[in-house]
Amino acid sequence: MTHYCHSTLPPAVSEHLSLAGRGYYGIGGIARYFAEPLSLAELADILLWSVGQRLPIALMGSGSNILFSDDDFSGVVISLGRMECFFWLSDDELLCEAGVENSHIAEELLRAGKGGGEWLYRLPGQIGATVRMNARCFGGEVSAITAAVLTLSVEGCLRWRLPEEIFYGYKHTALMEKPEIVVAALLRFSHARPEQEIKALMEGHEGEREAKHHFDFPSCGSTFKNNYAVGRSSGSIFEELGFKGMAEGGAMVSPHHANFIYNSGGATAREVLTLAARMQHAALAEVGAQLDLEVQCIGLFDGDLLASCGVAFASDTRDFSKGWAGLLWNPQGEGALATQESLFPRVLMQGPLVGYSCLEREFPSGALVVVEQLRSLEDAAFNPQAPFLRWTTRSGDPALFAVKPPSTIPAGSFTDGLWNYGVSELFIASVVPGGGYLEFELTPASHWVALRFDAPRKRAKGFEALSAEPWLQAVHKVEGEGRFGMEFSWELLRPFVKGDILALQCSASSGRGEFALFPWWHQAPLPADFHQPERFFQIRLL
Ligand SMILES: Cc1cc2nc3c(=O)[nH]c(=O)nc-3n(C[C@H](O)[C@H](O)[C@H](O)COP(=O)(O)OP(=O)(O)OC[C@H]3O[C@@H](n4cnc5c(N)ncnc54)[C@H](O)[C@@H]3O)c2cc1C
Repeated sequence: MTHYCHSTLPPAVSEHLSLAGRGYYGIGGIARYFAEPLSLAELADILLWSVGQRLPIALMGSGSNILFSDDDFSGVVISLGRMECFFWLSDDELLCEAGVENSHIAEELLRAGKGGGEWLYRLPGQIGATVRMNARCFGGEVSAITAAVLTLSVEGCLRWRLPEEIFYGYKHTALMEKPEIVVAALLRFSHARPEQEIKALMEGHEGEREAKHHFDFPSCGSTFKNNYAVGRSSGSIFEELGFKGMAEGGAMVSPHHANFIYNSGGATAREVLTLAARMQHAALAEVGAQLDLEVQCIGLFDGDLLASCGVAFASDTRDFSKGWAGLLWNPQGEGALATQESLFPRVLMQGPLVGYSCLEREFPSGALVVVEQLRSLEDAAFNPQAPFLRWTTRSGDPALFAVKPPSTIPAGSFTDGLWNYGVSELFIASVVPGGGYLEFELTPASHWVALRFDAPRKRAKGFEALSAEPWLQAVHKVEGEGRFGMEFSWELLRPFVKGDILALQCSASSGRGEFALFPWWHQAPLPADFHQPERFFQIRLL
């Protein structure tokens, strides 16, 4: 964990990488920085660093639906491809990090004997981007199998979103209106299906893609979305207009599927877009069909070219003939971070507690934790004793916290050794190495303990003996509405906030030797050890 304003590169960031070598199209300039985080905490670090350096930020999965510009990219491209962990949270729910390939999900469902995801097989791409695109094929659509989506905003807030917050309809999602990073998706597969049936469906879909020559040349699949008001597919419109085989330099309309533009060899982004613009204009002029580009343009392009394809862009402030398209964050256009994040209470982190090492069914599912910032830093400075941070846990499964302290320990009391029971925990750390950290543990019946450390497991001076006394004015319990938690004053937190950054970690113990985390780490199955502040999740306070 490092402070975001440093000038050295975060560990998962490399320099001067060819985007042509990364995307399906084989087109694109050089990215100044290319980031491949392994974990949520690393991703949060990279975002803080990129915003601190005021770099344009773009996202990619497998690049099977991205046209990178021919120009070099002067910012950071973040690839989620190394966040590829998946695990069953319950019998029916598969939690997938954003970088899991669609085909790997289908293969896992085959192993598990679950139907409903066969259509994901050989659908190019990773699940995070597939959620963003609300991709669909062979009667399946990602919105129909999604139970929840974990997103990370450019401001660094982690949110557990319900499908209705994400999916707006045919190939349209909230993430296209206000970009956020999908970091994980909880997919639901309730129906068992015999292995042979699943296999036959998967092979059928694969065969159909091969028969339609999907993979003969690099492409991004369908160039345009369908316009269902027109009554036929975009492919049939372009076929009727005679586009099959038409070329512009190395870009060529597939002779087999008139909505595919292949890179038949050495194509540039300019050639692909010039051909796409010709197709789009012909569809409107000759058939009255307004077709929207499905392929996502990313980078700095000729503004007129983007406009000719109907792609939204922001003019470059140094060269007005150029336009930025497809960014997660554009420092030129958005000097200040989005204002909707500055409404209070502001959710900093929200998500499920999952097994410590993310092993299958390692921890019972159903507990959701939320950490909120209740007031602004400015307000807190005037009112340091008022509640500043609220941490709550909600459990849908009574078995989760069923191991309770003995009745000789009254509810609500300050209690040592709480980790022996069903307990939720919050760690609050300074982002400066050696800056110390706090630990709070709480049961649903409000037994609690609070500790302060100078270094891992080294109790801070003045806090060696456990006592409720030092905490009483700064910590308040939250109960009711099916949740339990605590609020903390700014005065208590202030020593751990550096600049405007704080590091947080939620965890839990069931009291039966099962441990959980949010945000999760996927560590080798070592004994659970939450006292690792360098792994905590950094977040910017406003
Ligand atoms: C041969 C071929 C056939 C195809 N067939 C189909 C089909 O049948 N049906 C269909 O719907 N699509 C199809 N596609 C398109 C493609 O498979 C899907 O759009 C896929 O979901 C893209 O995944 P990706 O990881 O490659 O995304 P990318 O191309 O890397 O990214 C797509 C978009 O998502 C954004 N993005 C990337 N990662 C994230 C993230 N974690 N969070 C938020 N945004 C993110 C990117 O910035 C970009 O805007 C096809 C593509 C090809 C090449």
